[in-house]
Amino acid sequence: MIIRMTAAMNEQIKNQFHTSTPFEGCGLLLGTSSIDDSVDIHSIIPVKNVAAKPNHHFELEPEVWVHHLLTSPDLVGLYHTHPISVPLPSAEDLQDLQSYGQLMKVYLIAGIDPNEQRLEVKAYEVVKQEHGYSLRHAALFVT
Ligand SMILES: [Zn+2]
Repeated sequence: MIIRMTAAMNEQIKNQFHTSTPFEGCGLLLGTSSIDDSVDIHSIIPVKNVAAKPNHHFELEPEVWVHHLLTSPDLVGLYHTHPISVPLPSAEDLQDLQSYGQLMKVYLIAGIDPNEQRLEVKAYEVVKQEHGYSLRHAALFVT
């Protein structure tokens, strides 16, 4: 899968990383999917993180989440930030994914890339497998 978004959207997620730290920031992604297995993101919607331990976990504010599930046919995914860890899905992220994996295609994580030592947004594709949902690295093009 190929995922595209604008530099302004990439910056918006990075800004939310900074304003949310030390907590995780999160939100929804609206976009359009094409038959060639690519997704163009057109809107980043920040959503309040209502997790009990927001420095290690994220939970989208339920009212906003449900509102978009019911009213946004172009809901393609979600994103969240890792304030002090790499932009790789945690065991908890994968566990949570099982309850909503069927609702989305794209999963973005912003965190500090250990090789580059800088803030990066990494993209994953939600993949259905025999025993549930998993995340597979996807190409992200910032245009
Ligand atoms: Zn996470």
